[in-house]
Amino acid sequence: MSCASWAIRFVASLDGIITVLSGMSNIGQMKDNISYMKDFQPLNGEEQSIIREAQRILGKSSTIPCTACHYCMDGCPKQIKIPDIFSAMNKQLGNGQTEEARAAYEAAVSAGSRASDCIVCRQCERACPQHIKITDELKRAAELFK
Ligand code: SF4
Ligand code: SF4
Repeated sequence: MSCASWAIRFVASLDGIITVLSGMSNIGQMKDNISYMKDFQPLNGEEQSIIREAQRILGKSSTIPCTACHYCMDGCPKQIKIPDIFSAMNKQLGNGQTEEARAAYEAAVSAGSRASDCIVCRQCERACPQHIKITDELKRAAELFK
């Protein structure tokens, strides 16, 4: 089962839900969605336990819960590649991949602004569906990759 299928079935299994919106980027993702929603089966007890265990593990992680939706980037006056910078940070925070993290950060800022260029206008934070404290995280990135 795909990661997306777990997420969509989890939401669709909650009481009172009649519609689940799923962002899709290609035909493969659409086919995947249809495969388990055509004859929808709610999560069973074992699957609910697996989700709770995943929540417990992820809850201990210090990584940034960015989903790379890019909603934050449209209005950024500095054109900072926020999700790419967070992806780089997560390599460090999640797996301790120091060299990979730095290389990913340099790739993210090579054609644009660095994390330290943020002017804290906070338009990105108003746009973020995950309510990430983006300006705080960019300060952390600037420290991590200085
Ligand atoms: S707070 Fe920083 S990252 Fe966010 S939109 Fe403003 S300049 Fe860009
Ligand atoms: S809006 Fe939030 S979740 Fe989406 S890419 Fe930006 S920081 Fe990540």
